Amino acid sequence: MKKEEKEYKRILVTSALPYANGPIHLGHLAGAYLLADIYVRYQRMKKRDVLYICGSDEHGVPITIAAGKKGVTPQEIVNEFHFRNKVAFEKFGISFDYYGRTSSKVHHQTSQEIFLNLHAKGIFSKRVEKQLYDEKIDMFLPDRYVKGTCPVCGYAEAYGDQCEKCGSSLSPAELIEPKSVLTGDVPVYKETMHWFLPLGRFQQRIEKWIESKPHWKTNVLGQVRSWLKEGLSDRAVTRDLSWGVAVPLEEAKGKVLYVWFDAPIGYISATKEWAQEKNDPDLWKTYWQRQDTRLVHFIGKDNIVFHCIMFPAMLMAHGDYVLPDNVPANEFLNLEGNKLSTSKNYAVWLEDYLERFPPDPLRYYLANNAPETKDADFTWQEFQQRNNSELADIIGNFINRTLTFVDKRYHGLVPEYGEYDDLDKTMLDVLKKAPKKIGLYFEQFEFRKGINAFMDVGRMSNKYFNDQEPWTTVTKQPGKCATTLNICLQACRSLAILMGPILPFSAEKVWRMLGLDGVVARQLWDDAGSPALKPGHKLGQADILFKKIEDSDIEPEIERLKKIAAEMMERKNSEKPVVQTKPKISFDDFGKIELRVATVLEAGRVEKTDKLLQLRIRIGDETRQIVAGIAAWYSPENLVGKKITVIANLEPATIRGIESNGMLLAAEDESGQLSLIVPDRDVASGAKIR
Ligand SMILES: [Zn+2]
Repeated sequence: MKKEEKEYKRILVTSALPYANGPIHLGHLAGAYLLADIYVRYQRMKKRDVLYICGSDEHGVPITIAAGKKGVTPQEIVNEFHFRNKVAFEKFGISFDYYGRTSSKVHHQTSQEIFLNLHAKGIFSKRVEKQLYDEKIDMFLPDRYVKGTCPVCGYAEAYGDQCEKCGSSLSPAELIEPKSVLTGDVPVYKETMHWFLPLGRFQQRIEKWIESKPHWKTNVLGQVRSWLKEGLSDRAVTRDLSWGVAVPLEEAKGKVLYVWFDAPIGYISATKEWAQEKNDPDLWKTYWQRQDTRLVHFIGKDNIVFHCIMFPAMLMAHGDYVLPDNVPANEFLNLEGNKLSTSKNYAVWLEDYLERFPPDPLRYYLANNAPETKDADFTWQEFQQRNNSELADIIGNFINRTLTFVDKRYHGLVPEYGEYDDLDKTMLDVLKKAPKKIGLYFEQFEFRKGINAFMDVGRMSNKYFNDQEPWTTVTKQPGKCATTLNICLQACRSLAILMGPILPFSAEKVWRMLGLDGVVARQLWDDAGSPALKPGHKLGQADILFKKIEDSDIEPEIERLKKIAAEMMERKNSEKPVVQTKPKISFDDFGKIELRVATVLEAGRVEKTDKLLQLRIRIGDETRQIVAGIAAWYSPENLVGKKITVIANLEPATIRGIESNGMLLAAEDESGQLSLIVPDRDVASGAKIR
C-alpha cells in the first residue's frame, strides 16, 4: 500500500542539542548533525521553506558535576563550550539557521509557560517521594551525586543512575552502601514532593500515532515499539537542584525542571529567538503550530525515547504543536574498532581535526560511512583512502584535467559544441537525471546511497573523458574535441551543484574555478542537470580541489588512539577480577594439597541433621570415612558407586561425633546449592588430581 504523501508547506529541521559540558567529536557529527546539514542544504537548493534549529543543552547534572570538578560555576562551563561548539560547527559547515542555548531567558520563559500550560490542564500528578539527602550541605542528591556498590556486579564505584562497569540501570536506592559524591557522607532519606508526567495516559495516542509512521527507519520503530510494549509509566518532570529552569509554582520553591523536559523545548525557544532576530516575533508559530509543517528531528539512537515518546507526549498534552513527521535517528559510530570514550580521550575532537585537515574530506567520509541503520566504524586509513582515491582521484582529477585542458587549448573559454554522438548523449543524460536521483535518496534519508550516486556521476564523467580521448581528437577532429570539452565543463558545473549539500566548501571552489557568479548554495538543485554554461564563457583559475592525504598526516592520530586503546584494555584486564580471591599462593603451597579421585562405597544420613551425609569411600586401595554437608542436594542411594574428588591429606576432624578423614570437593552457586565435582571421564579410584 502506498502511503499518501501529505502536502507540506515548510520543513523544520532540528539536530539534538549537544551538552555544553565538552567539545564536539566525530560520534556527535555522525549521529545528529552532518546528515541533517546535508538534508537542509539540499532542501534550500530545492527552494523549499526550510528552517534548521539547534543549540546548547546547558542544564543537567553532568554540567554541575563538571563545574564542581573544575571549581567554577555551571554558567562558566556552559559559556565556554557553547561558544567553542558553535564555532566548531560553523567551521565544519553545519549551517544552522539559529544556534540557541537553554540558559537563555527566552528558553526559561518558554519552558515555564509549557509547564504551566500542562499544569493548568491537570496533566501532572504530584507525589511525595523519599530521596537521598546530604545533611552536611543540606542538599538532595540527584542520582549522579550518589556512588555505591552495584547490586548486580559488585563494582564499588557505581553511580546512582548507572553502573559503568556492567551497564545496569540503577536507582540510588538500589546501591549498596551509598555515599554522597560531594561530602563522602552516608546520605539519609528525606521526603520531597515531585511532579510527574503520566506517560501511560498517552500510551494509546502515541501507539496510534507511531503506527501512522510506517515510513520511519526500522531501527527507530523497533526501539519505540519495544518501549510501548513494556508500557509507559510516570516520569518525574521536576527535581531538587539549583541549576536549571525553576519550576514556576510557589509550592515548588528550590526545584527545577528535569532536563529531559526542558531540553527539547529548546528547539521551540531557539526558534522564537530566531524569529525575534528577524523582527517578526510571531514567525516561530508558523513553524511550530501549523499542521502543514514537516518537523524532522535528527538525533542519535540514545535520544529516540525522548523524541518519539516523551516530547511528543508533551506536545500532545499541550495540543497546539505539530508532531514530528520523521525522526531519522542514527546508530553509533565506533573509532578504529573500539567504542568512543570521551573520558578516556578515545575520540577524535572536531576542533583538533579542523586544525589539521579541511572539513570536506571528513564530511564526505563520515556521511558515506554514517551509522544510518547499524553501528559504523571510523578508521583514519579509510578516511585517507576515501579522500585520495575518490575525492582526489575521481572528482578532483576530472575537474582539474577538464579545466587545464580548456585553459591550454581554448584560452579558458567554454568551447562551442557540435553534433552529439552516442557517448555525448549518454553523458548528457546522466547529468540530466542526476539531481532527481540523488535528491530522492536525500528525501528518503538514505544519505549513503545519495552520496554514492553523486560519486557515480564523477566516475562516469571521468570515463567519458577517457573514452572520448580529447588529447587525440584535438588535432584530428577539432569539432568533436570541442563538443567533448563543452560537455565535460557542463559536468563540472553539474558536479559543483550536486556536491553542494555534501561538500559545501569544495562546491564553492569549483564554482569560482568555473568563473561563475553567485554561490552554489543559492543555485537551484533541479538546474544541476542542464547544460547551462554558454560557449565563450570565461572560466576562472584552476586549482587543486582535494589535496592528497599522506601516511605521515594520519600516522600520529593512529598511534595516539592505539596507545589509548591499549591502556583501556590494560585497565579493563586489571579490573577483571570481579571474583574476589584469597591472597595468592605459591606453586609449592598448591603442591601440598593432595587431591584424589575416590569411589563412594556406602552412604547414609547422619542422625538428627538434615545437612550431613556420612560416606564410606575408597581411594586406591584404602577405605576411609568422611562426613559431607550435601544431604540437601544428594540422596544417599544415588551416591553409591559415584566417582567424586576429595582432599586426601586434610587433618581429620570430628563432626557430630563422627570422624571425617578427608573432604569432598563441590561447587557452590549463589543460592548456596552444592554440586559435586566429578571427573568427566571414567578414571580409576585413587587417580591424582593436578
Ligand atoms: Zn554493575
